[in-house]
Amino acid sequence: MQSIVQKIKKAGLTGRGGACFPTADKWLMVKKARGEKKYIVCNASEGEPGIKKDKYLLEKKIDHVIDGILIAIDYLEAEKAYIYLNPAYYEKFGKNLEKTIGTLPIEVFKKQHKAGYIGGEESSALNHIEGKRIEPRLRPPFPTTSGLLGFPTLINNVETFYDVSLIAANEYQGKRFYTINGDCLYGGVYELPESWTIAEVLKKTDNYPDFDFFVQVGGDASGVVLNARQMNQPAGGGGSITIHSCLKHNPVGLMRYWTNFFYNESCGQCTPCREGLHRIKEEMEKKELNWQMIARLLDNLEDTSFCGLGCSVKTPFSSYVNNVLKKSGIKINLPLDQKKCLCECF
Ligand code: SF4
Repeated sequence: MQSIVQKIKKAGLTGRGGACFPTADKWLMVKKARGEKKYIVCNASEGEPGIKKDKYLLEKKIDHVIDGILIAIDYLEAEKAYIYLNPAYYEKFGKNLEKTIGTLPIEVFKKQHKAGYIGGEESSALNHIEGKRIEPRLRPPFPTTSGLLGFPTLINNVETFYDVSLIAANEYQGKRFYTINGDCLYGGVYELPESWTIAEVLKKTDNYPDFDFFVQVGGDASGVVLNARQMNQPAGGGGSITIHSCLKHNPVGLMRYWTNFFYNESCGQCTPCREGLHRIKEEMEKKELNWQMIARLLDNLEDTSFCGLGCSVKTPFSSYVNNVLKKSGIKINLPLDQKKCLCECF
């Protein structure tokens, strides 16, 4: 009989939190790691704007999610699991979750408001649960060998545990959840094949625009911006697709939105991100924008930030400039190259 990790490997499941790391490999790393105790964290912080699939699962499929966590506890012989829940979700689902959990070795941990977006990064989440300052840790060591309280820890997203429960029951069909937002009639969360392209997902849900548009996929902040001719690729990352009408959107307004988001969510631990975002925000608020300066600051953030938040600030800007503005002839002289592969996890 196949073990659960063999079944996960055969299903080809990758983490649904956005990083797309192979789930079976992560489980094996924790299994092989030495430690008197092992822990599990189900990450339900969902701080990236535009992604609502974990909320959907907490509301509609909580039994499956808990099943997936119990399967992990059993496989790893873990001491305990935590469900790391964002504050809004705690208000909405906390009581029901605790009732469903009953006496199982699972604790619901309420993420504080001040933890923000960066509180969802896995090592920040561990610091938060331990009662430490909420900021990313230097890696290595990785949580798989030294996580919660220094013990090997498996951290997976809510949807990953949901998929594990389907795999264990031989019901997994290679689907994932997509959140569709923006200028569309039928926004919401849909479960459709992971292999589908953005175009297929939008057509199936009756959301394919009949107007000039572009999309941001994988999150409304750190996601990649693609034009209408780039729809033949999977959405990837956190599985969100936000549609923007070319007629309605305001280029500088959109860039200010990204800037303000990252500025507000930076934990302030490292100088490039803390000071860089402060300077970009300052520049973005001026009447005459210094695009050369903004481009240099974004490059610096990408190259020198301590964690993924700072490194990903440039992604929406560079993909928007290269895939939308340059193609549509809108003249904004923001000289950004686009190093990242669009198919890569972001
Ligand atoms: S890049 Fe930003 S969010 Fe990440 S550690 Fe540095 S200051 Fe904090």
